[in-house]
Amino acid sequence: MNSLTLRMASICLVLVAGFAAMAETDAKPSDSDAWSGWEAIKAGKIEEASRHFQEAIARHPNDATLFLGAGLAAHLQRQEERARAALQEALRLDPRLTEASLLLGEIAYGAGDIESAIRTYEAALAWVPEHPQIRDRLETWRKEMALHGTFQRTINPHFTVLFEGPAEQALAARSLEMLEAAYWRIGTTLLAYPAEILTVILYTDEQFRDITRSPKWAAGLYDGKIRVPMRGALNDPGTLEKVLAHEFTHALLRSIVPRRLPVWLDEGLAMLFEIGDTAWAEGVVRQASTLIPLSKLHGSFVQLPSDQVPLAYAESAIAVRMLFDRGGPAALTALLNDLAAEKAFNESFERRFFMTYSDFQTMLERNH
Ligand SMILES: [Zn+2]
Repeated sequence: MNSLTLRMASICLVLVAGFAAMAETDAKPSDSDAWSGWEAIKAGKIEEASRHFQEAIARHPNDATLFLGAGLAAHLQRQEERARAALQEALRLDPRLTEASLLLGEIAYGAGDIESAIRTYEAALAWVPEHPQIRDRLETWRKEMALHGTFQRTINPHFTVLFEGPAEQALAARSLEMLEAAYWRIGTTLLAYPAEILTVILYTDEQFRDITRSPKWAAGLYDGKIRVPMRGALNDPGTLEKVLAHEFTHALLRSIVPRRLPVWLDEGLAMLFEIGDTAWAEGVVRQASTLIPLSKLHGSFVQLPSDQVPLAYAESAIAVRMLFDRGGPAALTALLNDLAAEKAFNESFERRFFMTYSDFQTMLERNH
């Protein structure tokens, strides 16, 4: 399961809607470049947006909203250091600019800098003490920091595994071996490896629900860190190995395609690398009266009615299996690289698999 993208995307959407509206109405934009910048972000032309904001900043270096725009554009280009610098400047000019605090806090958290995320939201709360999202996130982050402060860690060159105490020591060591195996097995297939050391946290089931607020069906989560409830892992290492491989795949995919990876492709690859066989998924799909169109599975499954979730996963697994059968890892890797280069999904799909996306959907339905 993969949740960070959803939260960041919703913050970005709110930002764009709010500022584009402002630019169109009463609060006349200080500069036509500012207006063009927000419009360009709305249209997905991020580089263009970035240029407009920089030009506007050169003329109005004290306008905090321009630095907010520049920060958002940098974030959307995955230049997180630049984004953080711009957002900090926005907040220096106007500490009440809550939108800048929201984005800056989430970027810091996503980068693993929870102390800075907490400081940012605490400062924001001084201006908007009742802001529900800020209060809520702060509470979760403080809990997480307090809990992790007491955790122990074991490391290798690719992973840091956090665990609660001596009772979990052996399991943590075992997890590290499983993760290392997944690293080489999956990395060699997709010809890619995460750029940074991944943090993996082993929780009790209760800690997992408390920190991640995941739905009941979630067996693990990747949100910049891999978080796993141990469940009966001591007695059932096979399940833990699957969950770790699944979440590692999400982490790897995030480093290849940080944005706009269709969720069915993300989850399908994670499921395929976790087990390799699709018998379970075939059973679920056979029992369904109709399939969910893949085009409806580009966004998070959390938004689906809960009885549709197993089908969504099953379809994803089968679709990815079919892609492997059709083009092998090479075609899939090429598709991922196209998406990383921000090429349009439908065209890239057709170029890499020699069939249109809608023909593939028909093929998936025929198999059902
Ligand atoms: Zn998943």
